[in-house]
Order: sequence, then structure tokens, then C-alpha cells
Amino acid sequence: MEATMADGAAMARWTTVQDVTDHVWPKVRDHVTPMEWPVQAELIAEINRLKADRDAVILAHNYMTPDIFHGVGDYVGDSLGLAKEAARSDAKVIVQAGVHFMAETSKILSPDKTVLIPDLRAGCSLAASITGADVRLIKARYPGLPVVTYVNTTADVKAETDICCTSANAVQVVEWAAKEWGVDRVILIPDEFLARNVAAQTTVGIIAWKGRCEVHERFTAADIADMRAAYPGAEILAHPECPEDVLAASDFAGSTAAMTDYVAGRKPKQVVLITECSMASNVAGDVPGVQFIGPCNLCPHMKRITLENIRDCLINMQFEVTVPEDMAERARLAVQRMVDLPPPAIPARYDLFKARHHVAVELI
Ligand code: SF4
Repeated sequence: MEATMADGAAMARWTTVQDVTDHVWPKVRDHVTPMEWPVQAELIAEINRLKADRDAVILAHNYMTPDIFHGVGDYVGDSLGLAKEAARSDAKVIVQAGVHFMAETSKILSPDKTVLIPDLRAGCSLAASITGADVRLIKARYPGLPVVTYVNTTADVKAETDICCTSANAVQVVEWAAKEWGVDRVILIPDEFLARNVAAQTTVGIIAWKGRCEVHERFTAADIADMRAAYPGAEILAHPECPEDVLAASDFAGSTAAMTDYVAGRKPKQVVLITECSMASNVAGDVPGVQFIGPCNLCPHMKRITLENIRDCLINMQFEVTVPEDMAERARLAVQRMVDLPPPAIPARYDLFKARHHVAVELI
């Protein structure tokens, strides 16, 4: 009798969980087994309840796993899109389902909100490649040149920056900075490959830093050739943090937002996304009917964020990310300058004809 009552209670609880998670299942079922799903569904239901209790929103980056991206993300997208949504939101608490520099950017744009990250170890090889002190030395070496900094940097670096950029607007920002400062060269840091790929798209001279994303630097032109041989009909899309010869061998290059737009608009039969693995899984959930083929590389930092630590983060209100006010104020100016530029009509694409021509870059 007791067992029957317990079974009944469990069944009632599962029915409640199903009511609030059934819409998520079709988007994640290719990446979650039916055996795993009840545990994940319970966590998703619990997190969504906790968000309401805490007046919180979850910002989920494109590289989060599909259970997070489709199950608990209130806003999904690239790092800058997320930070802008954070600033627009009325919620008191922001949970950054992403890496530490993203949480800092959210705090910079939303100083009055509590910003939490579920795992403080979620770092980034690119952000770790440079410090504010390095930028001060670069400025001393190239006086009078504007410093354009990729958003994948710490607040300390942003504070030394004239204007930030993303992979979606880097060419536009570089050309704007050269015109504003009346110069023919700009400093574009810290991603060496992004800088090289931008240099191929503009006549503005680029001075670059040797930082790299450990996920994108591993792709090679040989990987692309292997994919073409194995899947002759597949369309190959590369992220501009990849080496130049990878872009030159691809069919399309653009930011994660541009890739999503491309797949949603063209619906190719087979597609290869040369970027972090979860990106393909997440786009697949929104664009059924397209076959996504590897290779891809996992970002170990992004993968530190899980449903379990998001739940714990909301229960314990941990781990808060703060930025000293004077640093935040200077960093905000750099981010805000970029935000104030007119947005491109569509997420920027890299012209692959230009990408096939080598352009010299001065590497610091
Ligand atoms: S994918 Fe690359 S740039 Fe993004 S967090 Fe991971 S290491 Fe950093």
C-alpha cells in the first residue's frame, strides 16, 4: 500500500514536471537519451521555479549544452547580445550561463543587478592571454593609435580600450576607429586569427596580439579538405576565430549569429559548423531537417556550466561577479561606444574572396 502511494506521488510529480518541460524535449531529444531526460527535466523545472522566486533571468551562450540553451535560457545568443539583454531586463538577478568575461560584461552594463556565475572556474584561453598592464605597454609603444578590443576580454583589459568589438562587427568597428582617430592603422587585440581575418576585409592596417581561442585555433585547412571529401554536398561555415586558411577553404564565415542566420535562411541539406560543438546542437533544435556533421571542438570552460550548478547557483546565490566601479566605468565607455554604432542590417559575413588573399599583419 505504502509503495503504491509513493508510486502515485512520484507519478503526480513527474506529470507536473512534464507539463512544464514537454516543449523542451523535441529540441533536445537528439542529444539527450530517454533515460537521462527525467533527471534533466526535473532540474529544468526546478531551475525555472527558482528563477521566478529569485527574480532572476538566465543568459545562455550559444556554446551551452542544449539542455541549458533550450531548457532554462531566457535569453540566448552571443556574448554581446546577452549583455545587452541583461541591461534591458527588469530582473534583479542575472545568471550567466557562459564564461567569466561574459559575466563581467553583464555587470559592466548592469551595475545595479546581482550577476552570478555557476562556476568561477569557467574562464577563457583568449581572455587569459592579455592583461590591462599589457595593453598599457602596447599603447606606450603605439601612441596615437586607437585600441579596439574583442569583447572576449577581462574588464581590466576593456578599461584600457577605446572601443570594443565582436566577431560580427569587427570590420565595421576597425574602420570607424581609423576614421575617428584620423589614422591608417589600429590596434586590434587579443585574437590573432580574428585580427588576420579582419585585416583581409579592410584597407586599414592592423596591429595584432598573439592571443588565441583554444577551440578555434585547432581547426586546420586539412580538416576542411577531409570534410569536403567525405561529404561533397555539405556547406562549410567557419568562425573568424579560426586560422585564415580555414576561412579561405570554407563556403561561409561569420559570427555565431551570422552562422545561425545562414542555416535558418538557406536550410542546407548538410552543414558543417567549424566552431564549438554545442553550437550545432542548439541550431539543430531550432532548424529541424538540416543534418549537422562534425568536426567540432568542445570548449572546456563553457562545459563547466551544468544544470546542476545553475540550480545550486540560484539556491545559494553563488558566485557573485563584481567589477571595481572605476574600472567598470572606463570599460563601460568602450562597450557603449560599440553599442552606439548603428547595428549591421544582417550579422556581418566575411567576404571569402578577400579572405583568400594574404594580408600582412604586424604582430606584437
Ligand atoms: S570558445 Fe574560445 S573564446 Fe569562447 S570561451 Fe572557449 S576558449 Fe574562450
